[in-house]
Amino acid sequence: MSIFEGWRRAEFRRAPAKPMIFPPIPPEKATLNSLNFDLHNHTNASDGVLPADELVLLAHRNGCDALALTDHDTVANVAAAAACAKALGLRFVAGIEISVSWVAKGDIDSPLTTIHIVGLNIDPTNRALLEGIAGVRGGRIARGREMAKQLVEAGLPDIFEDAFALAENKEMLARTHFGRALVSRGIVPDIATAFKRFLTQGNPGYIPHRWASLEDAIGWILGAGGVAVIAHPARYKLSTAEMDALFGEFKALGGQGVEVVTGSHSANEYGQFAARCKAFGLYASRGADFHGPVETPVEPGTLPLLSDVDRDLKPVWQLFH
Ligand code: AMP
Ligand code: MN
Ligand code: MN
Ligand code: MN
Repeated sequence: MSIFEGWRRAEFRRAPAKPMIFPPIPPEKATLNSLNFDLHNHTNASDGVLPADELVLLAHRNGCDALALTDHDTVANVAAAAACAKALGLRFVAGIEISVSWVAKGDIDSPLTTIHIVGLNIDPTNRALLEGIAGVRGGRIARGREMAKQLVEAGLPDIFEDAFALAENKEMLARTHFGRALVSRGIVPDIATAFKRFLTQGNPGYIPHRWASLEDAIGWILGAGGVAVIAHPARYKLSTAEMDALFGEFKALGGQGVEVVTGSHSANEYGQFAARCKAFGLYASRGADFHGPVETPVEPGTLPLLSDVDRDLKPVWQLFH
């Protein structure tokens, strides 16, 4: 490790000590796992449909005790969402969902798996974080062009311009926008079918991409004073041994939370990951992973509470101070 790298690492880990969640959680409430905190949601700054104010209004209407905005690789809408939440008196948590390419340490045979790491209660102005995620965003438009080309080769019309027009934030052009373009052209009936037939590994329209390393993503989140959380673990196609390796490496790098209750998990998976969360001594998180009405059937603040799944789960918001 070079001296420069060592210095950077130390910078990352020097977390600012100021509280960022607003309004702060009263200490007597912080350990309650029965609160309606929804800590995973998207807006049109990434691949969500709603602008910041509409997402916040929806969460408020649904009776959330707190809302986190966790757009993919961008904090562009965090300030707007925070202002809107403040006006409504809704507790707001600044967040991010960072795209990561991961393979277990020492495993030279397996391909990289895309993993999502959520950062909660971050300082959205932290320079190292902003520079890091800007790097992760780079290359999405070029990837999109290749995706479109591959779909054309599979006999589909060229949908690049459709997808590009659907992306409010052009540098966050995502597979989701291509999925929506396929739906609006009538090529597939819904977004789930778009991802079943296209855009995924082994299907036309899938171009592998190199995202951040697990170490960098966790480092940026910790450096910005945040808590790192493994997003929707049941979605990853990993063996039990690989999942153990992911959780082990995540913890060793300073990660502290895992999503147990998410719109991406079945009820059965809530139980499975509640047990894993406790076995690894992690804090539990909960979030809809809301992308938009119709498309995500689960609205913010409507999933079962952590306490409904397992009353011994330690809520990740215990760490927000
Ligand atoms: P990208 O970061 O451009 O590769 O796009 C990843 C996004 O695609 C995720 O954040 C999800 O919003 C969406 N996605 C992935 N798989 C599915 C699926 N099976 N159904 C619906 N959306 C999906
Ligand atoms: Mn998404
Ligand atoms: Mn995700
Ligand atoms: Mn998400």
